[in-house]
Amino acid sequence: FTPQIFALKYSTATQHSFTHTNNPPKVPNLIGGSFVNSQSSEFIDVINPATQQVVSQIPLTKNEEFKAAVSAAKEAFPSWRNTPVTTRQRVMLKLQQLIRRDMDKLAMNITTEQGKTLKDAQGDVFRGLEVVEHACGMASLQMGEFSSNVSHGTDTYSVREPLGVCAGICPFNFPAMIPLWMFPVAVTSGNTFVLKPSEKDPGASMLLAELAMEAGLPNGVLNIVHGTNDIVNAICDDEDIKAISFVGSNTAGMHIYARASAKGKRVQSNMGAKNHGIVMPDASPEATLNALVAAGFGAAGQRCMALSTVVFVGDSKEWESELVKRAKSLKVNAGTEPDADLGPVISKQAKERVCRLIQSGVESGARLLLDGRDIVVPGYEQGNFVGPTILSGVTEDMECYKEEIFGPVLLCMQADSLEEAINILNRNKYGNGAAIFTSSGAAARKFQVDIEAGQVGINVPIPVPLPFFSFTGSKASFAGDLNFYGKAGVNFYTQIKTVTQQWKDLPGLSLAMPTSQ
Ligand code: NAD
Repeated sequence: FTPQIFALKYSTATQHSFTHTNNPPKVPNLIGGSFVNSQSSEFIDVINPATQQVVSQIPLTKNEEFKAAVSAAKEAFPSWRNTPVTTRQRVMLKLQQLIRRDMDKLAMNITTEQGKTLKDAQGDVFRGLEVVEHACGMASLQMGEFSSNVSHGTDTYSVREPLGVCAGICPFNFPAMIPLWMFPVAVTSGNTFVLKPSEKDPGASMLLAELAMEAGLPNGVLNIVHGTNDIVNAICDDEDIKAISFVGSNTAGMHIYARASAKGKRVQSNMGAKNHGIVMPDASPEATLNALVAAGFGAAGQRCMALSTVVFVGDSKEWESELVKRAKSLKVNAGTEPDADLGPVISKQAKERVCRLIQSGVESGARLLLDGRDIVVPGYEQGNFVGPTILSGVTEDMECYKEEIFGPVLLCMQADSLEEAINILNRNKYGNGAAIFTSSGAAARKFQVDIEAGQVGINVPIPVPLPFFSFTGSKASFAGDLNFYGKAGVNFYTQIKTVTQQWKDLPGLSLAMPTSQ
């Protein structure tokens, strides 16, 4: 394998994509510190979902190129793991500064490839930046334990060592935050990394990698390969990759979990969701309605922690009409337009799927209080837009309820009591997030105790924990046992070694099991 070095820096090359549609730039892989064009003859278009303009093309990376990326990561590992943790932290300190410097550029890239509004794209970068900031404290996070004199003159201590080459496989919906959930924690704890961005929006990963190198990350510590199913399967099967972080749909996540676990790898797999918000009649109406609209329709509903289902308890069901009024007032537009509240969904196929699920709800008896399917956005007539949509009278047997819609669609259900509402949530297969809106401490506490969801919001619609905690989806929303970021994230990327030492000669010979008696 002889890499053809990419002539331009990645970011310089992609600037062309905003003006030249005829010859979109090819997104290079990053192998051993060089941006290299793939020798593949197969490419996939990265499409601006607001305009259908081809922004760039990603290669279906060839197997020997993938192997070269893994070899580069393997080669970089011995010296990187022996680099002092304080030095590794300093790379992250610099990286967080560079991400702040390039925030606007990153956000523009995300809006161009993914569609979300520029402000929301900045949030995407910022929530990832917080993980980089957290990784700056790796010396403390990775600290081991020490017990003195566990037996006569004997001490035991444990150290957390990096695993080796780790890999990350990303979804389209948070092109910056999710790669930043992965590689900063992995590399600062001493691993090297192979990242596979979403084929739909690889640009933010490329820009972040460029910044990581500018921050001083040595060649080969972070590598990037592009592709789809074949490259994912190659990652699952590769003997040199020790752990895989995955975020995406259940179909892909369970496949990767099964295939990579069968090869003895650690896997953390964050998957789909159906997050419910329970509205109690004693909730503050203004704040609750605003929270429901923001969490249901923000990012066009394409957040794994979007609130996609509301359960109105008792009289709170009368708030539905006010919910519709507020949802109607939202502005649907291209994410680059300053007045946009929500942008397009990611693809034509995604729009078709969302519309099909709305229609299935109508056909199975739900009332369509607000229909966003036929929206046309002036100036962006080709965009994959779906306006805010609200279905009421939704029941648990409906397809629109059982499936994750992943679009700007809010389902409304009703319950007579908190108990009944909690039972509805607990019967749902997903367990990513759940929220309650109430002014009663007793109701909130009951909800917190009884609810089967990994991330619980009390008057907080999208309770995504900051990086000193972990992202703790449960049930069908997660497979594995060590969650992303926080203490669990460091534990995921490290192996404990437990050492027992003594420094005096043991008296006599005994074949009995040593004890501390
Ligand atoms: P996706 O599963 O289609 O793609 C994710 C990654 O898996 C991509 O890199 C893709 O190339 C790869 N992939 C897809 N199908 C594959 C297959 N059959 N075999 C091997 N690899 C495959 O997900 P998406 O559409 O990009 O993202 C949306 C999904 O991600 C939603 O379900 C959303 O809930 C979920 N998500 C979950 C979280 C979380 O933390 N729980 C966060 C963000 C997104």
